[in-house]
Amino acid sequence: GAQGLKYKRLLVKLSGEALMGAQPYGIDMGVADRLSNDIAAAVAEGAEIAIVVGGGNIFRGLSGAAKGMDRATADYMGMLATVMNALALQNSLDHRGVQARVLSAIPMPTVCESYVRPKALSYLGRGNVVIFAAGTGNPFFTTDTAAVLRGIEMNCNAVLKATQVDGVYSADPKKHKDAVRYDQLTYSEVLAKDLKVMDGAAIALARDNGLPLIVVSIDEPGNLLKALRGEARQTLIEG
Ligand code: UDP
Repeated sequence: GAQGLKYKRLLVKLSGEALMGAQPYGIDMGVADRLSNDIAAAVAEGAEIAIVVGGGNIFRGLSGAAKGMDRATADYMGMLATVMNALALQNSLDHRGVQARVLSAIPMPTVCESYVRPKALSYLGRGNVVIFAAGTGNPFFTTDTAAVLRGIEMNCNAVLKATQVDGVYSADPKKHKDAVRYDQLTYSEVLAKDLKVMDGAAIALARDNGLPLIVVSIDEPGNLLKALRGEARQTLIEG
C-alpha cells in the first residue's frame, strides 16, 4: 500500500518529447503505453498521480514566433498541442484500466473537462489520474511553470520532472563527457548556475512555495515507482 511511499501525491511533468520516443515528431503510442504501465503500477501502490503534459513534440510557441507569427497566437497553438498529448495519454491509461481525467486550462467542453481546482482535488482523492492540459492557459508561460503551479494547487508532495537522463548535470552529459551530476541542489543554485532544469519562472514559483522538485529518468521502466519510494537515482531540488 501507500505506506512504502515517500511521496503519496506526485505531480509528474511529461514533456512532449517524452511522448515522441525515437520519432522526429508527434506521439509514439508505444512510448505512451510504456509510460502508462509505470503510472498504472504507481496507482496500484496507492500513489495519487497528477500529470502535466507538454506539447513540444507537436508545436512550440517560440518556433511559431520564429516563423513570423505573433508569439501569443503561437503559444495558444502550443497549448492546443498539449491537449492532443493529454488525450493520447488518457486513452492509453484507459486501455490499462486506469481511470484518467483530462482537465484543460482552456475550456473545450465537447473535448474534455475544464480545469476547476476542487474538481481536480476530488478526482485525485478518489484515486483517479488527473492529466492537466493546456498548460496554465496563458501565453508566455511553459508547461514547466504549469507543472509547478498545479503541483502547489493540488498539495502535491513534489513535482517529478521526467527526463532522459538520471538527474541534473552541469552541462548536457550527452555532449560533454566532463559534465558533473548533482545529487542535490537548492533553487537558488539552479537559478544562479542557470542549470537547464526548468525555466526560471517555474523554479522561482517552486522556491517561493517550498515545493520539492525531483529530476529523474523515465526511460527506464519502473523508475516512477522507485522515485515514489525515494529509491530512484535522481537530483532533488529544495531548500
Ligand atoms: N504554452 C503556453 N502557456 C503555458 C504552457 C504552454 O503558451 O502555460 C505553450 C508554449 O507555446 C509552449 C507550448 O505551449 O512552447 C508547449 O509547451 P512546452 O514547450 O512547455 O512543452 P514541452 O517542452 O514540455 O514539450
